[in-house]
Amino acid sequence: MTDSHEPQCFHCGTTPAAHRADYVLGALCGECAEQLTSWICPDCGDITSGSRSDAGAHCARCVAQRAWATVPDPAREEVARLLAAGKTILALKLIREVTGCGLAEAVALTRL
Ligand SMILES: [Zn+2]
Ligand SMILES: [Zn+2]
Repeated sequence: MTDSHEPQCFHCGTTPAAHRADYVLGALCGECAEQLTSWICPDCGDITSGSRSDAGAHCARCVAQRAWATVPDPAREEVARLLAAGKTILALKLIREVTGCGLAEAVALTRL
């Protein structure tokens, strides 16, 4: 018998999973609930979820905004120009050069 209404842990996909009322993204199994938590971003109030060791940190968007603010102005203009021209790879390369951030952070910056 398959019960499609049985909640699956959104994090690891196992079932059955316990519902966590304080977790905004969906059902979470007990094992994942031990490792994950959710909190309000101190900057924008967004609900942020992640590992317990990150609790209280800024959401991905605010972290990206803060990183973006450190990019020198000429580089920001060049990145905007590259993105507008559809040269995403070059834009990401430039962002990483000027900020020293990882690829994931660079991608987040291009989405602002
Ligand atoms: Zn799980
Ligand atoms: Zn935020």
